[in-house]
Amino acid sequence: MSTNPPDLRPDIAPAARLGGHARPGQPTIGMVSLGCPKALVDSERILTRLRAEGYAISPDYAGADAVIVNTCGFLDSAKAESLEAIGEALAENGRVIVTGCLGAEPDHIRQHHPRILAVTGPHQYEQVLDAVHVAVPPSPDPFVDLLPETGVKLTPRHYSYLKISEGCNHKCRFCIIPDMRGRLVSRRADSVLREAERLVGAGVRELLVISQDTSAYGLDRKHERAPWKGRNPRSHITDLAHELGRLGAWIRLHYIYPYPHVRELVPLMADPASGVLPYLDVPFQHAHPATLGRMARPAAAAKTLEEIAAWRAICPDLALRSTFIVGYPGETEAEFQTLLDWLDEAQLDRVGCFQYENVAGARSNALPGHVAADVKQDRWERFMERAQAVSAAKLAARVGRTVRAIVDDVDAQAATCRTMADAPEIDGNLFIDTGFETLKPGDIVSVQVDEAGDYDLWGRLA
Ligand code: SF4
Repeated sequence: MSTNPPDLRPDIAPAARLGGHARPGQPTIGMVSLGCPKALVDSERILTRLRAEGYAISPDYAGADAVIVNTCGFLDSAKAESLEAIGEALAENGRVIVTGCLGAEPDHIRQHHPRILAVTGPHQYEQVLDAVHVAVPPSPDPFVDLLPETGVKLTPRHYSYLKISEGCNHKCRFCIIPDMRGRLVSRRADSVLREAERLVGAGVRELLVISQDTSAYGLDRKHERAPWKGRNPRSHITDLAHELGRLGAWIRLHYIYPYPHVRELVPLMADPASGVLPYLDVPFQHAHPATLGRMARPAAAAKTLEEIAAWRAICPDLALRSTFIVGYPGETEAEFQTLLDWLDEAQLDRVGCFQYENVAGARSNALPGHVAADVKQDRWERFMERAQAVSAAKLAARVGRTVRAIVDDVDAQAATCRTMADAPEIDGNLFIDTGFETLKPGDIVSVQVDEAGDYDLWGRLA
């Protein structure tokens, strides 16, 4: 594709168009934008995000702390032009991040320009921003920046989700996420940790680590190491959890598959000083090997009851949450009964259950043996009855104990809190209805448990 007309190229656009001069000490980025109008829009998006985060945009190489080259790779001539632009930016500035269409061929780029700082592919905005944060750390100024230090958050101030990767390498038949979001792309460990540190610095007390497959984190990066506070953690969930735990907030891990290396994580959960909560959210989805096989689930052959026993041997207080699908195509009464028996034995703390539904584009739609709606409803009710009995018994066993809890909300009637065993929105609550008036959201308190229901607890400050 053609190069944009010169006055559309942000690298040489007039400074006035880019919003004025950098203030002293303000991190500053330059941008060379090549290719078609779509690439130009990508460049504008990246620049908009950087401006909102407090970066200045430099109209020339000399004033920039680093330069992003947004490349085109459509034709051989465009590739050559992109490589030439990267070379020019390296010669003029020396600190170069490459993104855009040619970024889909990182080896080719690095062959020509081994000194570049990072390569990301087309439309990978988050990854480009991560690379910028690593190369030129942001330096927020609360008086002039558009965004708070935490970014715009949809969660209450005291907890925050922390996304460590995007996409998934699995192909579960009922799921279209890999088609929509692509294969696993993990963030650099130091980039995740920098974001986490900023969130904790801004008052976040609990970080909820999420992704499509948290235990696979870093596989795509071959678990490369990244410098962080004089240490060199791998982009691996064990190292990441270890480092996150040092930040002083509660760390809660979601969407962990029962791979063997999860056993390395559990000792962290058993150590109250590690910061990593004794909580594992493992989406088992079913227990019968044939059903799991038809679902094409990762770790379908794992001996899950043995894994759970091993985890509990290491960390007896481990809270296990999971989700399940009943009425999956081909699920027989015997398979469902295996699931119920498994549930009795696994004694999970928190359980969610869905009746199978077709999703447009999912491969499971074409499977034989779809289960009738009334059978799905019946199985769902029987499943929930079993799960509720387990939950009630587990909560009853906590009466009389003193537990740590985080305060989510305080109104005229009570403080609504969560124990370490409860994630926000999906798990239960602990209510304190006397002597709670001085509490505020984000406080972490010790509570004597007085009473238990099927899903919630009641108690008083210890
Ligand atoms: S359900 Fe399966 S395919 Fe979908 S995101 Fe999870 S692991 Fe990946």
